[in-house]
Amino acid sequence: MIQFDVHTHSISSGHGSTCTITDMAMAARKKGLSLLGISDHGPATLCAGTPSYFRSLQMAPRERCGIRMLYGVELNILDHSGKVDLEKSILSGMDYAIISMHTKNIKPGNICENTKAYIHAMDQPKVRIIGHCDDAKYPVDYKALAREAADHHVMMEINNASIMPGGYRGNTIPNIIHMLYWCGVYDVPVLLSSDSHGYKHVGDVKGSEILLRAFRESLDFPQHLIMSYDADRFIKYINHYPL
Ligand SMILES: [Zn+2]
Ligand SMILES: [Zn+2]
Repeated sequence: MIQFDVHTHSISSGHGSTCTITDMAMAARKKGLSLLGISDHGPATLCAGTPSYFRSLQMAPRERCGIRMLYGVELNILDHSGKVDLEKSILSGMDYAIISMHTKNIKPGNICENTKAYIHAMDQPKVRIIGHCDDAKYPVDYKALAREAADHHVMMEINNASIMPGGYRGNTIPNIIHMLYWCGVYDVPVLLSSDSHGYKHVGDVKGSEILLRAFRESLDFPQHLIMSYDADRFIKYINHYPL
C-alpha cells in the first residue's frame, strides 16, 4: 500500500473541490496514509489561490489529524519557454512544486515545443515532479524528458485521474508505458498520485497499480524506482538526497 499522496487539491484550487486542507488530512488518515501533500493549482487557474495564499502556506501546521503535511503547488506552465505562474521567491519557500500543462493556460504545441517547455520549467525552484505528462493533447519526447528529469533531480508521476475510463486526457496508457520505459533507462523515480480534487479519492491509485502490475514484466521496470511506498525516502529525495 502507498504511504503518501502529494498530488491533491483543496478548495483553494478554485474548482472541483470544496474540501479544506483539514478535510483532506482527515481523509488521508482514514485511508491509512502517513503523509499528505497539498498541491493546489497555481494562480493562473481561474479562481485559484493568490500568490499570498501560497506564501502563507510556509506558516501552516506540519501535522494535521495525525498526518504529516507537506505544502506544494501544481504550477501551470504558461508558454513554451517554460514560464510558470508563481514567482521564484515564493516557490523557494514551498516544499515542492509539480509542473503541469492545462488547456486553459497553454495551447498544445508540437512534440519539440512541449518537451522544451517541461525542460525549461524544471529550472524553477522546488520543481520535483512532472505532472500528468501522459496527456494525449501534449505529446512529448519521453526519452529527452526522462534524461533531463534525471539531471534535474525530478520525478515523474503516474496520475490516477489520467487512467480513469473516458478521461479528458485522452488515451494516456501508451504514453505512460513509454514514459515508464525511459524512466527505467535513466533511473528516474516514479510517483503514484491521485490528483484528487476532494476527500473521496485521496490516496486512490488503484488504476495505476493495476497498470504497473500488468506491464511490470514486459517493461522490466525496476521496483526501487517507485517512490510511493516509503514516505521518508520521498522526503529525502525532494531535499536533494540521491536516490
Ligand atoms: Zn493538473
Ligand atoms: Zn492536479
